[in-house]
Amino acid sequence: MPGRPLRVAVVGAGPAGIYAADALAGQDDVPVAVDLIDRLPTPFGLVRHGIAPDHLKMRALRETLHHTLDHERVRFVGNVEIGTDLALDELRRHVDAVVYTYGAAGDRALGIPGEELPGSLAATDVVAWYCGHPDADRGRVEELVSRARDVVVVGVGNVALDVARVLARSPAELHPTEMPHHVLDTLAAAPVERITVLGRRGPAQASFTTQELRELGHLAAATVLVDPADLTDAGDAALAAEDRHVARNLAALADYAGHEAAPGTVSVRLRFHARPVRLLGTDRVIGVEVERTRVDADGRAVGTGELDVVPADLVVRSVGYRGHALPGLPLDGGTVPHDAGRVVRDGEVSRGEYVAGWIKRGPTGVVGTNKHDARETVASLLADVASGVLQPGGDDDWVDTLLARGGHPVLLADWRAIDAAEIALGAVHGRARTTLHERESLLAAVRAAAAAQEG
Ligand SMILES: Cc1cc2nc3c(=O)[nH]c(=O)nc-3n(C[C@H](O)[C@H](O)[C@H](O)COP(=O)(O)OP(=O)(O)OC[C@H]3O[C@@H](n4cnc5c(N)ncnc54)[C@H](O)[C@@H]3O)c2cc1C
Repeated sequence: MPGRPLRVAVVGAGPAGIYAADALAGQDDVPVAVDLIDRLPTPFGLVRHGIAPDHLKMRALRETLHHTLDHERVRFVGNVEIGTDLALDELRRHVDAVVYTYGAAGDRALGIPGEELPGSLAATDVVAWYCGHPDADRGRVEELVSRARDVVVVGVGNVALDVARVLARSPAELHPTEMPHHVLDTLAAAPVERITVLGRRGPAQASFTTQELRELGHLAAATVLVDPADLTDAGDAALAAEDRHVARNLAALADYAGHEAAPGTVSVRLRFHARPVRLLGTDRVIGVEVERTRVDADGRAVGTGELDVVPADLVVRSVGYRGHALPGLPLDGGTVPHDAGRVVRDGEVSRGEYVAGWIKRGPTGVVGTNKHDARETVASLLADVASGVLQPGGDDDWVDTLLARGGHPVLLADWRAIDAAEIALGAVHGRARTTLHERESLLAAVRAAAAAQEG
């Protein structure tokens, strides 16, 4: 139909999806109508359900992201899971192009004996819980956190430090966050005394940023401990001479190496050259057997055979994220195969299919990395329109199809009702916002606003 805008569906309203929608809506060459779809009733992906709740400034990024949701060429459609509520090929029949931005939120396993024992969790489980993700296994995480005295966090990236920090924070420090109340209550009552963070390799190979590392030293009721012997490797000094990031991390760790455990505070011990070999326990985790390692010339951890046991009631593995396949979409090693953002199926570029964000390049980079990434993808899409590969065609509105089938899509006004309900709930306790955790509570806020408007 001449003059009809190009209909583009973006699957996933996290940063990559929002940046892709923004790049599409903000250009003047091609008239577009963008549907920004998410399986959750809320937008923002890991900005809402990943970035640590005590990082208030970082989470405020969503104010900027929200501008895109307000754009007249963009329609937010939440509470619709592509692949479940609507099959991929069905969506493709209704629109002219699809941009997949559904993230890579699956966890990686350690692959060691005992990992399946109760008391062993993935960081994804803990993060989903404290951020109030509707799919979090609330009962299981709360049961474990509420009796955790000795916690082991496996991994030395920023997510591992996020988990350690949140568990070590005092109730007063967590009050200004958006965490759901039951999360605050569970953390306040948790008997956490010792948190050990394990790195397989040396401090020079740790991937956490210096900022996150230093932040640990400013907690109100925690003491950070580092064994000075972990900082004596001549190889680390050589790496520090070449890499400022390593040098800064080693300097921060050296400050901690002078600390001693202080009574009445949670001790957060950062241990390096320590590889978990198995989780101990019969009906639940009671400890982690750890092997001392050394780092070889290629930077790999090599076991020394020297073993010890770290007591633990709760073990949280934080060793990376991975992507999963959307039914009907190819996946190769955790990402969707592509050529400059154009999806590749069986070695050929697939017309009208694009990918951006973590599911395109893997779980790396900061939020802003997705902006550049999404722009590359949108540039490919617009080039395909310019060359005539992609043309407005499509079918009637897929949201009507969904509604006729009894679906409950959450549109922008509905999300605003959720937003307002969370702000109102926060105000009751003197907080800026309190996250509504359960999907049912989120949808109840939508229904309440609709009923108020009708009445
Ligand atoms: C724990 C954690 C903490 C982080 N902290 C920081 C930080 O402090 N600073 C920083 O810069 N970066 C941080 N990051 C990285 C940042 O969050 C990512 O770079 C970014 O979120 C990736 O964007 P994305 O859009 O690709 O994926 P996501 O943010 O995961 O968004 C994907 C979206 O797709 C939706 N979706 C999934 N499947 C479907 C489906 N089938 N149908 C419809 N929708 C679907 C999901 O609900 C989600 O909303 C953190 C990441 C994690 C995991």
